[in-house]
Amino acid sequence: MKLARGTKFIEEEHPQLLRDESSLSGGNCQVAVWPEKAHEVTEFLKECFEDSVNITVSGARTGITGGAVPMGGAILSTELLKGITSTADQNIIRVLAGESLESITNYCNKEKPGLFYPPDPTETTASIGGTIATDASGAASYKFGSTRNWIDRLRIILPSGTDLTVKRGEHRFRKGKLNHPVLGTINLPQLDKSQPIKNAAGLYITPGMDLIDLFIGSEGKLGLVLEADLLLARKPYAVASFAVFCSEDQFWDLRKDLMNSNLPLREMEVIADPSLTFLTENTGKTFPEEGDWVLFTSIDIASEDELDVILETLEMLLEELNISPDNTWGGFDDMEVKRLKEFRHLLPETVNRIISGHALKNNKIHKISTDTAVHPEKLQKYYFKMKSILESTKIEHVVFGHSGQGHLHANLIPKNDFELEKAELAVELIAKEAVKLGGTVSAEHGTGKLKIPLLKLMYSAKELSDMELLVERICVS
Ligand SMILES: Cc1cc2nc3c(=O)[nH]c(=O)nc-3n(C[C@H](O)[C@H](O)[C@H](O)COP(=O)(O)OP(=O)(O)OC[C@H]3O[C@@H](n4cnc5c(N)ncnc54)[C@H](O)[C@@H]3O)c2cc1C
Repeated sequence: MKLARGTKFIEEEHPQLLRDESSLSGGNCQVAVWPEKAHEVTEFLKECFEDSVNITVSGARTGITGGAVPMGGAILSTELLKGITSTADQNIIRVLAGESLESITNYCNKEKPGLFYPPDPTETTASIGGTIATDASGAASYKFGSTRNWIDRLRIILPSGTDLTVKRGEHRFRKGKLNHPVLGTINLPQLDKSQPIKNAAGLYITPGMDLIDLFIGSEGKLGLVLEADLLLARKPYAVASFAVFCSEDQFWDLRKDLMNSNLPLREMEVIADPSLTFLTENTGKTFPEEGDWVLFTSIDIASEDELDVILETLEMLLEELNISPDNTWGGFDDMEVKRLKEFRHLLPETVNRIISGHALKNNKIHKISTDTAVHPEKLQKYYFKMKSILESTKIEHVVFGHSGQGHLHANLIPKNDFELEKAELAVELIAKEAVKLGGTVSAEHGTGKLKIPLLKLMYSAKELSDMELLVERICVS
């Protein structure tokens, strides 16, 4: 097994291991390992457990909450844990933790034509282990739900080194309790109110839940995801994607009309003002002039006949709101879908690039972003609160996200310590507003290291300590 030892050596030779996409600084560790085989993982975890060495699991480090950034101890990279195989069930593939979403797509295109793995959290270099650990979502989760909906079986190495396989449907909690042959008796923490529909803050807890769902989204706290069986879905005849450039009022009306329509929507996304101006200023790209908001949608099409009906319905909805077809980009051929995907990717990528530049001058600077969500019906009300908080900071910012799921990302771009402090305060205020409306402080990125302080806005001290106890309880199994 590849191994590196020594804080300074790792800092100089493997600096990439000490950061992720959050630009969180201060990462350090004394030991780094890159196992290739299951037994290497179990032996290393067991050794660290016996010596009380803290371990951080590192996937592709595309996370934006600092979860994979080690703060001392050891780091285990899943980079070399590779392998994708078919199973007896033609709709299920078995994948090792270090495989990227991109390689899973390539595998499906080659070996499973007509099928695909639906979770698409934008960043295709993310590892499957990381996406399971964060229960990643993304645009298509409007239709397909988060990663957990597509996981049938997990092989997990618990922090003690115990090798555990959990298959969906085999172990369910009854009245908050489960007796398991390896884990013993587990009691779920009792929550004062049920968790929001889209939520990645804290352990996943819901009545009658499957044991596998406790591990999905637990951000590596309950062990390392070594291998997963992924469910595949049938590809539709085609997917049509559209970007509609419009005013703010037109956006809210069109969003409502589309969500109430019978169209088989896969995505319902938004880029809000002033994000287009930000993109033009920082990338030189230009956009139709008549709108400072963009509604993105993509629609699954079952047949050629259905395509005509869908296009007619869409045209009618646009006409009713006086949106010119000239202000719409879209199509259904692969090139057009790719162009729109790249456009959407450009915004978070540009923000990350600029933040990294600021961080070079001041290493305290990191991405300040919200990952809050509310019930989709409350989104417009919530957005107004968010907007007034953001504008009051006078800090450069963009807003985009998964409008169909009531989920917006505000990214603030602080340039100095003063703006950093103000941006952090704004994030807390925005999170408080989300919680007031029954929402979550983190809907898809998890809490990692950066969002831990927000958990207390959403859960009581008792709920948080019960979650901690449950983590400790499973870690020693
Ligand atoms: C441009 C961009 C856009 C993004 N858009 C989205 C989006 O739309 N939706 C979304 O959900 N996310 C999004 N992300 C965030 C990120 O891609 C996801 O959080 C992804 O799931 C992280 O995967 P990773 O392999 O990079 O994990 P890492 O960043 O390496 O790790 C993330 C967390 O998972 C843990 N972990 C990693 N691997 C394992 C494992 N095998 N077992 C146990 N724990 C593990 C780590 O310890 C850490 O806590 C985006 C990121 C970028 C850069």
